[in-house]
Amino acid sequence: MEHSHRVRRIIVVGGGITGLAAAHRLEERRHAERLACEVLLLEAGPRLGGVISTTCRDGFILESGPDTIFTNKPWGLDLIGRLGLSERLIGTTDTHRRTFVARGGTLHPLPEGFLLLAPTRFGPFLRSGLLSWRGKARTALDLFLARGRSGADESLASFVRRRFGQEALTRLAQPMVGGIYTADPERLSLRATLPQFLQMEERHRSIILALRRQRSSIPSERRAESGPRYSLFATLDDGLQTLVDALVQRLPAGAVRRCCPVTGIAREETRWTLRLGDGTNLEADGIILGIPAFRAAALTRDLDADLASELEAIPYASSVIVNLAYRREEIPHPLDGFGFVVPACEGRTIIACSFSSVKFAARAPADHVLLRAFAGGALQPEPFEWDDEMLLTAVRRDLNELLGIRAAPLWSHVTRHPRSMPQYHVGHLNRLAALEEALTRWPTLKLAGNAYRGVGIPDVIHSGEAAADALLADLAVARRQGDAELAMNPPTRSCAGQESLL
Ligand SMILES: Cc1cc2nc3c(=O)[nH]c(=O)nc-3n(C[C@H](O)[C@H](O)[C@H](O)COP(=O)(O)OP(=O)(O)OC[C@H]3O[C@@H](n4cnc5c(N)ncnc54)[C@H](O)[C@@H]3O)c2cc1C
Repeated sequence: MEHSHRVRRIIVVGGGITGLAAAHRLEERRHAERLACEVLLLEAGPRLGGVISTTCRDGFILESGPDTIFTNKPWGLDLIGRLGLSERLIGTTDTHRRTFVARGGTLHPLPEGFLLLAPTRFGPFLRSGLLSWRGKARTALDLFLARGRSGADESLASFVRRRFGQEALTRLAQPMVGGIYTADPERLSLRATLPQFLQMEERHRSIILALRRQRSSIPSERRAESGPRYSLFATLDDGLQTLVDALVQRLPAGAVRRCCPVTGIAREETRWTLRLGDGTNLEADGIILGIPAFRAAALTRDLDADLASELEAIPYASSVIVNLAYRREEIPHPLDGFGFVVPACEGRTIIACSFSSVKFAARAPADHVLLRAFAGGALQPEPFEWDDEMLLTAVRRDLNELLGIRAAPLWSHVTRHPRSMPQYHVGHLNRLAALEEALTRWPTLKLAGNAYRGVGIPDVIHSGEAAADALLADLAVARRQGDAELAMNPPTRSCAGQESLL
């Protein structure tokens, strides 16, 4: 019979922000509650942070992956506070809080007050060159349309088409939401990504009316913003790698193993066995898989084929980021915004571009500019496959036509993110229910990461931390069951002196 009062080992698989947040939470609680557990994080690659990676080059601060922490959800800020990094948080610059949308060879500002899918102010919307008069009239029809059928999962495209019409979908919703999820709007589940719009329809019937009511509760100085709510964007002064580094520093020496891919997991009696890439095994009492769903599927296939097939069914899109450094004088455009998005129907390589050094302070030396162009995603996967030269030629062609930049960049930096963005297709929430059902068979195995209930950094921090809390709770249950057995079959050797367990 197993001795229930030994130190429990918890293994976190994956050293991206999800896995780090999970391991950090376990450490925090181990320390605060004097839990007899040991935490080990295993990362396949040589570096930690996953898609988060900041580099400094010639006075520029480059983000090769995400660059923003959204502050509308609390979990990112909360962790930053616990790590003592609150002073290092910076918001976006105050000026130029707007986005452009490409149409033909021109960048049009997204009309003031346009919030993701719909306008909240009629004047700027009617004056905008982004939609035809017919398209604008069809968008405004939302004010009079009845509610749609409620309950069923619906794609973003279907919702936008029925409320605002095809032109608003192609010209605005697709690039705006596509920019966040790099997704095909015909397949993206609205309920899994932007359920607030369904709730608005349910409560207020018209989305425009609902957004206008909401807007009246926003302080007047922020109402002019368009597109994303830039006042909710933040980053760390030296870039997001600072968050990764701070998390790693909080973990005890020896708790993190790099270049340590896990290749399979198996359950043997009451413990887990993890097979590692070097052919060795590690034992654990609990596991958190903080890795992409398709990788979790590969690890769990022999353990639970149903669980693995649900995980495997979550599709992913690949994307590529090109950072480009310029002298300011070489860019004729005033750069009076935070960047632009490009509708897929425009047939360009760039799907979105951030004016990074306009958006956040200190991203480039004085008189220089840092641009961050995105390509790939679910609708235009080809550029992800191109070699650097072909990609740069196409990106520079777009920057020339849209921003008038003829000069070669001082330097450029290409980062590919293969299968990095999960696609929450229609039916995603049913798939999550099936996954949760399958996981009831394995209470000490937890899944965390961006494949499930949110792709943003705060969401995945929350999922890592919630997985840690749930695992500790389930291990405590396992311990109570162990204690009951222990009472009936007392061990021969004393375990006095051990810390209390979980
Ligand atoms: C290009 C891009 C830009 C983005 N921009 C933003 C943004 O600005 N703001 C925002 O909030 N969100 C953004 N996101 C989303 C957000 O960054 C991600 O959802 C989040 O960082 C994912 O973190 P993760 O730890 O779950 O996954 P990952 O970062 O993918 O990390 C997973 C880790 O697990 C490791 N691993 C995989 N398999 C194994 C194995 N078998 N054994 C051991 N280790 C393994 C990998 O090597 C990797 O290090 C962006 C995403 C992308 C791709």
